[in-house]
Amino acid sequence: MEKILSKHLTYGETKERLHSTRGKKMKECREKINLSQCNCSWEPCSRKGICCECLSYHWRNRELPACLFPDDVERTYDRSLRRFIQIYKNQL
Ligand code: SF4
Repeated sequence: MEKILSKHLTYGETKERLHSTRGKKMKECREKINLSQCNCSWEPCSRKGICCECLSYHWRNRELPACLFPDDVERTYDRSLRRFIQIYKNQL
């Protein structure tokens, strides 16, 4: 599992790679549109609507963003990979 996880880039690494390989500015963040589709109930979070930061933050802790969980599970704030697998393991 560690081998798989280590292949993923952090937000900073991804941003840097996009800049250096394309030589263009990154696209504007679609924060307002993202917010309209966000099911996260943790109101004080500064990453809300900024999906790249949300994913990077949770993945550092081997968690996943709220939007990948059903609403009733999201409200428990258990965003662990273990919980995600528990939910979806029989749906593959
Ligand atoms: S899922 Fe986590 S990082 Fe993303 S908006 Fe909710 S509390 Fe913030």
